[in-house]
Amino acid sequence: MEDKQSLIDKVLQHIREAAERAGRTADEVTLVAVSKTRPLEDILAAYEVGVRHFGENRAEEFAQKAAALSHLTDLQWHFIGHLQTRQSKPVADHAHCFHALDRLKIAERLSRQLQEAGRTLPVFIEVNVSGEASKGGFNCADWENDQVQRDAFLQAVQQIVALPNLEVRGLMTMAPFDVGEDEIRSVFRRLHQLSEWLNTELPDLQARQLSMGMSGDFELAVEEGATHVRVGTAIFGVRNPV
Ligand SMILES: *Cc1c(COP(=O)(O)O)cnc(C)c1O
Repeated sequence: MEDKQSLIDKVLQHIREAAERAGRTADEVTLVAVSKTRPLEDILAAYEVGVRHFGENRAEEFAQKAAALSHLTDLQWHFIGHLQTRQSKPVADHAHCFHALDRLKIAERLSRQLQEAGRTLPVFIEVNVSGEASKGGFNCADWENDQVQRDAFLQAVQQIVALPNLEVRGLMTMAPFDVGEDEIRSVFRRLHQLSEWLNTELPDLQARQLSMGMSGDFELAVEEGATHVRVGTAIFGVRNPV
């Protein structure tokens, strides 16, 4: 078993190399260490070697971890998974970034809770560009050709942007599993193009960040413009099924 430092160094090195291949620099990319299902000791071990961004995807588990580690004031929590409507409170209270804003209803609820808590929350709007039925997010599977789909997405973004205490930073997607590199790259590239189109349509938005890439595909994602990669297994090892 390699130690945490060398696993993290390896991921950072791969991010650096992928960024260089694309004429970018590694400091444009935030590594979010996905610590879901992992015990506090794993988070602390990564924190000790310099990791500050951690990703969780279950509200209850997140609330417990945020409470237990609240003394680490520079630790940044990213909530990366689908959020059930009734479980939004811990995210409103403790998250530093929410990557999976996938419907207006959860945006409205978070906005209300954030106002009550006196907090603002940076968010990524999750979109489904692959068309896979199992993937969440606003349907943008055929956005290049389908004006109805484009208009619906644009309207949803405008409604979200109008909500107080949410700061839309950009778009998030998940690539399909079990497909070739070309197809994965195409999903990331199409998310990037969607982001450019969106920011052209809404020039005041300035939401150019891209959350894309996981353990199996983060290098492709960085080559295609990711600003946030969400990496679990490559840092913490294979998760036990929950
Ligand atoms: C679990 C998860 C990840 C990390 O996946 P790995 O393959 O372990 O790197 C990234 N993003 C989301 C949304 C996840 O749920």
